[in-house]
Amino acid sequence: MDYRRTYVRDLFAATPGTEISVFGWVKTRRDSKGISFVQVSDGSCFRDFQVVVPAGAIPDAELAKVSTGACVRFDGTIVESPAALQAVELSATGLEVFGEADPQTYPLQKKGASFEFLREIAHLRARGNTFGAVFRVRAQAAQAINEFFHHRGFHYIHTPIITASDAEGAGAMFQVTTALEANAPLEAPDGHFSYRLKTVNPSDDFFGRPAYLTVSGQLNAETLAMGMTNVYTFGPTFRAENSSTSRHLAEFWMVEPEMAFCDLEGDMNLAEEFLKEVIGNVLDHCGDDLAFFNQRIEPQLLTTLDHVVNSPFERLTYTEAVAMLEASGENFEFPVAWGIDLQSEHERWLTDVKVGRPVILTDYPKEIKAFYMRANDDGRTVRAMDVLAPRIGEIIGGSQREERLGHLEARIDEAGLPRAAYSWYLDLRRYGSAPHAGFGLGFERLLMYITGMKNIRDVIPYHRTSGNAEF
Ligand code: ATP
Ligand code: MN
Repeated sequence: MDYRRTYVRDLFAATPGTEISVFGWVKTRRDSKGISFVQVSDGSCFRDFQVVVPAGAIPDAELAKVSTGACVRFDGTIVESPAALQAVELSATGLEVFGEADPQTYPLQKKGASFEFLREIAHLRARGNTFGAVFRVRAQAAQAINEFFHHRGFHYIHTPIITASDAEGAGAMFQVTTALEANAPLEAPDGHFSYRLKTVNPSDDFFGRPAYLTVSGQLNAETLAMGMTNVYTFGPTFRAENSSTSRHLAEFWMVEPEMAFCDLEGDMNLAEEFLKEVIGNVLDHCGDDLAFFNQRIEPQLLTTLDHVVNSPFERLTYTEAVAMLEASGENFEFPVAWGIDLQSEHERWLTDVKVGRPVILTDYPKEIKAFYMRANDDGRTVRAMDVLAPRIGEIIGGSQREERLGHLEARIDEAGLPRAAYSWYLDLRRYGSAPHAGFGLGFERLLMYITGMKNIRDVIPYHRTSGNAEF
């Protein structure tokens, strides 16, 4: 056995008469007049492949093991199929059952399971239609992201996962420590091993100081851009989000490009090209998966995605957007006034109702944005941009970075952050500073957008959220 063989996705184009084997897991089995019809899936594509077992072709004792969830190899001949949905099928002459799945206990039975239930059997859900499709789209989108940057001369860099600086106050952090001593295994039903925190001086801890899981690779990425010009990170980030929303994970993947010699215009151009190209790539490569999402998960999905790919994004300043929202006559739950952080109801009104296309908002009040964003001359706003997409709201957040040493120091002081902790970051401005810009995109938010899945827990194989670290 070798990975180099014919996958299910290639079988639909196989020539009748070809002798071939079909490897996969049984989706369904139906028997009629001594003939068995078995749908086999190997996850290589959305569709499963029909295997027909003629009466007497395979001993009954073996065939009895072929039930939903069993792992099999059928050998046989490709024949023309009378079924409407596929041109060819396999007429089986041989069978090997690698692993049976007891129909009485197999948890992933045919249909109707809720996404909540499937999360509890996340180790099996990749075999189902929905999650196979989600994870194929995830793989294709990741590939598309790497291609997008590669074709534009961006270097793929890796920033640390463990950090000693609270990068930007982007979110509550997880502490990393070895100051633990083993405790007895918990009496808890799942018997998980536990550790007790020794009360120690942080200076006695592994790194000689408190250390955390990173909330963003941006500050490190900036240091590499200040020498390699165009770079990007694509890796895991961590935030101890307390609220359990359908849009927040404790562990999620972030894409963060950073460009020297680039201003906010250039940053917006990159963000727009990025979304169009990555979504377009998935549309091109995952047609069957997206058709399924369009049919079963989000009715307008393909229309909105096509729209994002084909229409120019509207660009507005925050101040213009606030004026539109104030003039809208809408009765928002959170009232609008200049200076507020826009809520998703406001963002969705802008994209879905007012403009009907993706919108990039720029020049936000400095109070609601991070310290490193470049100050405008008005003294009130900074060169920030958020890309808002129809149906979901913010999908990308970015900015031109403050490259002027004095301005940056003043902002760090204003934000009440310790200058000493940012000495290396300030060095970038002290020595050979350059205008630069970048953005951050939450990969799972993009996947929710592309698939129409409503809960972020359902676009990552194993979700980490407050109260959940199963599997
Ligand atoms: P939000 O307001 O939704 O919490 P944020 O302002 O904290 O987002 P940023 O700090 O700008 O987000 O992070 C960059 C991107 O990372 C966001 O645009 C979003 O796509 C994504 N993101 C942020 N927090 C999470 C999270 N907890 N889980 C998944 N994705 C996230
Ligand atoms: Mn947040």
